[in-house]
Amino acid sequence: MAKQPGVRHPNLIIKNVPASIPFEEIQSALKVFSKNSDLLKVRFQFSGSKPDTTNWVLESPVIVLMELIHIKKIPLRWNMYQISEFYHIKRCNYCQAYGHTTKNCHHNIPSCATCAGYHSTKDCLSEYCFCVNCYSKTNLYHNNPSSFHSARDKRCPCYLAEIELYKKSRDYSHN
Ligand SMILES: [Zn+2]
Ligand SMILES: [Zn+2]
Ligand SMILES: [Zn+2]
Repeated sequence: MAKQPGVRHPNLIIKNVPASIPFEEIQSALKVFSKNSDLLKVRFQFSGSKPDTTNWVLESPVIVLMELIHIKKIPLRWNMYQISEFYHIKRCNYCQAYGHTTKNCHHNIPSCATCAGYHSTKDCLSEYCFCVNCYSKTNLYHNNPSSFHSARDKRCPCYLAEIELYKKSRDYSHN
């Protein structure tokens, strides 16, 4: 596959790293597993799911990515931290649609991520899941995928289609 100009590298994420650990330390820890770890570039950071931790998102040439994703965990200061490929996919937490975030949503009424009802996800009392994205796709294409899952389900066909689209925007060639 010819390398297209301007196509960006894939991303890696390292989760729940103590905020006190600097990037240089992470990079030298990664050097043990990939001698080209200095090719990693910080894309952004966001708060981890534990207090005082950060998730690092690193842009990674595919040769480095391949060396690092199979190790699954990296040791830093005697603890292990999860490392995996990161798919930067926007999903709106208000209407659940892909391609924009809550801040840029044009809807006035929320759609619940759990049951697709007209209420916010945190107020949901439903006992079943129903995916608003799969439901609207069914209406458009009449291909009737099952919609009985949460819009946040990682196995949702709409989510998997977004990952495929995302991958097309990244350079996975080996040169
Ligand atoms: Zn929206
Ligand atoms: Zn609901
Ligand atoms: Zn779905």
